[in-house]
Amino acid sequence: MLAVLFLSLPAGYENEAFAKGAFLTAFVSSLAWTILAFYLMSYCRVIKVWFFTIIFILFALETAIYLRFGSRIDANIITLLMQTDWAETREFVVAYLMDWKTLFMFVCVCGVYCLLIHAVQRIHIKHLVQSKLYPVLSLPVIVLGLALPYLSIPTTMGKNTIIGIYDAFKFVRNSHDDVDQFSSMIEKIEIYSDSCKHKSPTIVLVIGESFNKHRSSLYGYALPTNPLLSKEKNLVIFSHASTPVCYTSGAMRYIFSLKSCNLGGTDSAQYVLFPAVFKKASYKVAYFDNQYTRSQGGEADYGCSYFFSPKYINDHCFDLRNETLEEYDGDFIFTYKSRFLKNGTCLNIIHLKGQHFQAKKRYPSAFSYFTTDNILRGDLDDSEKQRMVEYDNATRYNDYVMRMILDEFRNDDAVVIYFSDHGENIFDGKGHRYGRNVGELYDEESAYNIRQIPFMIWCSDTFIRYRPEKYDAIKQASKLPLCIDDVAYMLFDLADIDFKYFKPERSVINPQYHPHKTALE
Ligand SMILES: [Zn+2]
Repeated sequence: MLAVLFLSLPAGYENEAFAKGAFLTAFVSSLAWTILAFYLMSYCRVIKVWFFTIIFILFALETAIYLRFGSRIDANIITLLMQTDWAETREFVVAYLMDWKTLFMFVCVCGVYCLLIHAVQRIHIKHLVQSKLYPVLSLPVIVLGLALPYLSIPTTMGKNTIIGIYDAFKFVRNSHDDVDQFSSMIEKIEIYSDSCKHKSPTIVLVIGESFNKHRSSLYGYALPTNPLLSKEKNLVIFSHASTPVCYTSGAMRYIFSLKSCNLGGTDSAQYVLFPAVFKKASYKVAYFDNQYTRSQGGEADYGCSYFFSPKYINDHCFDLRNETLEEYDGDFIFTYKSRFLKNGTCLNIIHLKGQHFQAKKRYPSAFSYFTTDNILRGDLDDSEKQRMVEYDNATRYNDYVMRMILDEFRNDDAVVIYFSDHGENIFDGKGHRYGRNVGELYDEESAYNIRQIPFMIWCSDTFIRYRPEKYDAIKQASKLPLCIDDVAYMLFDLADIDFKYFKPERSVINPQYHPHKTALE
């Protein structure tokens, strides 16, 4: 049992919203691992000692790192270790480990290990494994533990120490491979010279967060969660937009690169980053992200758009990026609006915190507009109604933030595209779900609440006057199925950029558009 706890406890060092579910699932899978390991140990005593020693060391390491840095051994920690040379290691040891408290803890941990390993050596696993009950009791646990990752259960799947560290190493290796591919594709972007011959507009791409479209009055929700956008006469609402993923980093990859959710992973064009295409086509590109800045982690950052962190890629994609974050999106826009790029041939990308959980942290208290009295749902208790109200207030605040953005471009020749990376469960389905779980995508409830997303395009009066045919194409496209992995192609069309990897059949405003199979109908 101790071995199972050592393996699974670090799974609980997660954000409090996930911790219990992560620990519980990691506990079940660790139990299955330990039962299986017992079979091996019954043949050889050395395996028993090694198994226990390894999981004890991993547990002690993960716990120490968590206590010191508030994180498990994840990709960031591994990258920092890989980039550390001996001089830095010595500095680290002196700074963090050479104090009496740490040394005392270290001695204590070694003492506990000696006591435990002595006890472990005296346990006779052979008798236990050879008993008739052992296979009968262990088989269901092994089956459940091994099947767990493939079951669609309403909680976050926890990883035991061994799987967690293995996955973190794998993630680091894959990410570095990806970054190499992104860099090499930047060289291959060739803009066709006859494109960009007209005066180009200012393009603004706003990426929202965790916005359930069915809780927007723009999509028929009864409460006025989008009162300001509802009044915008040049706003075109898309009815059939969807996302292939339920988490931000996956969505960012689909949005920023030409990776598509219906093609295999062998196409090198999937490593083309659209901001790099715009920059090669003489656009000025700015990226304002209120969830993440490059300066937070630099090269060792695996935040949701980590592939922009390396200097080479960053310099070939952006002229300008934000250095700071704000607690609220409205304050973020207020801080950076003077640096928005305007007057044509420029692209602004804005990534908001939107309605990300916990929704009550996404808006200032002055924006607490709705109360639980507005929620006429007999099936919800008071705390559930409260969470629903907080979500609706965050949506209404997002409406205010979006109006702030539109106001900045109202007198420009501009087009603003807004959509959310994915939706969110807000107690609206049969399963009474709240939030999101990785992998929860293919059932009806997830398709409705998470994969369907709000998507809209606003055009300034000047944009419509200069390009009535583009405005018409946008209106025509608004009833078509559209997936976020095709947004980049639509941006190329809006900017009149033609280049080697452009596919007109993937641009929703192009006459040749053909929705791909995985876009939701
Ligand atoms: Zn997200």
